[in-house]
Amino acid sequence: MEHIVIIGNGISGVTAARHIRKLSDKKITIISAESDYFFSRTALMYVYMGHMTFEHTKPYEDWFWKKNRIALKKGFVKTIETDTKTLHFAEGDTLKYDKLIIATGSKPNTFGWKGQDLKGVQGLYTKQDLENLEIYAPNNEVCKRAVIVGGGLIGIELAEMLHTRNIPVTFLVRESSFWNGVLPEGESAMINRHIKNHHIDLRLSSNLKEIISDETGKVKSIIIEETGEEIICDFVGLTAGVTPNIDFLKHSNIELGKGVKVNRFLETNVPDVYAIGDCAEQHEAIGNRRTIEAVWYTGRMMGEVVAQTICGNKMAYNPGHWFNSAKFFNIEYQTYGWVNGFKKKPDYESHFHWKHDDDTKCITIAFDKNTTVFLGINTLGIRMRHEVFDRWLTEKQHVDYVINHLAEANFDPEFYKHYEQDIQRTYNNQFQSI
Ligand SMILES: Cc1cc2nc3c(=O)[nH]c(=O)nc-3n(C[C@H](O)[C@H](O)[C@H](O)COP(=O)(O)OP(=O)(O)OC[C@H]3O[C@@H](n4cnc5c(N)ncnc54)[C@H](O)[C@@H]3O)c2cc1C
Repeated sequence: MEHIVIIGNGISGVTAARHIRKLSDKKITIISAESDYFFSRTALMYVYMGHMTFEHTKPYEDWFWKKNRIALKKGFVKTIETDTKTLHFAEGDTLKYDKLIIATGSKPNTFGWKGQDLKGVQGLYTKQDLENLEIYAPNNEVCKRAVIVGGGLIGIELAEMLHTRNIPVTFLVRESSFWNGVLPEGESAMINRHIKNHHIDLRLSSNLKEIISDETGKVKSIIIEETGEEIICDFVGLTAGVTPNIDFLKHSNIELGKGVKVNRFLETNVPDVYAIGDCAEQHEAIGNRRTIEAVWYTGRMMGEVVAQTICGNKMAYNPGHWFNSAKFFNIEYQTYGWVNGFKKKPDYESHFHWKHDDDTKCITIAFDKNTTVFLGINTLGIRMRHEVFDRWLTEKQHVDYVINHLAEANFDPEFYKHYEQDIQRTYNNQFQSI
């Protein structure tokens, strides 16, 4: 019987396994060095915040795997010999495969900062990171101040987590405004204010220079590059983005870029070896999408697609229109299509921006200023319906149509009834010439 081996028990590896099982009787093994069972990485923050236990982050009961004949192996794959189709484990044993799926996810970026390996310095990615957070930042007695380095989605999650335990936080953000590589100016500025309203010591245009040790090898303070200021702290969170977790493949025959290089069928250059999820890098970008996408739903989609191919129904990965969501403290963020941030905005892209007086809700709609075709929408603090925007993007609707039909997108109906006229009036004022 053909043996499918999957390295990584995250959303992409587990989805692939489940779908291969649905479609076939093949022998399946999932390997992970991190945890015995699949858990939801996106829920880690809620465990620290006391909303759920780690047990609750497991989407399947422990018996599920045996019942579905999916073998689970704990171990760290050190090298892959593709000629003999053999995996070598750090623990010394080996495993043969017929087809291999690499689904090894990401790891937090570090930039060779002095002190980055000290005790109390870590990323927020793994189950072990969560456990270490409980050691070094359980409360504000043990951790009198935390410093977070890197203003992205994980950085702001970590700030919220520490804030719920009343731990003072200094947040170093390299950019001049929070996440302004992605968010347009008005949204980014709103989130700056929201972060500060939560008493987070937000330092914009600030880089980490080094982390200083105490006499026991634990972090004592950090130095800011631009000002030389020393900030005394007990914990440093490194959240300056993630990169594919593929160091163990360096000496294999598998082609690597930043991630494992794959074609649209998620095939690598080596026959019978596939890569999916955060660690996969498309040879060529699909539309405007990035070649590596470290988000949950794309990992799940790739898992489903690769299962089809492996079970004889060769299928290309076709993710459709981009969408994403996140949370910045109390403000929910949703995005559909493309709304480019200040730095990346192409010449043809124009933005309509509306902000509620309470400074926690806003809408930005991007459109092509030559053709007026709708390109994408961001909302902060307002919920949208995925299928409506997905349809409007496919139909290439014009921005006027979108503005006039926003109610269909099921913004909170009461809210929308109240502000519909104001949004339309603002739009007409901003774009009278269109
Ligand atoms: C704190 C946090 C919050 C997030 N929130 C969101 C969110 O709100 N929305 C969203 O879309 N995305 C979010 N993400 C990103 C999302 O979690 C990832 O995109 C997704 O988990 C990637 O899944 P994956 O299956 O590709 O890899 P992973 O989940 O990283 O799983 C890979 C597994 O492979 C194992 N592994 C790696 N190398 C080896 C090896 N050599 N041997 C054995 N095992 C190995 C790893 O230990 C790991 O268990 C968040 C991420 C983090 C860290």
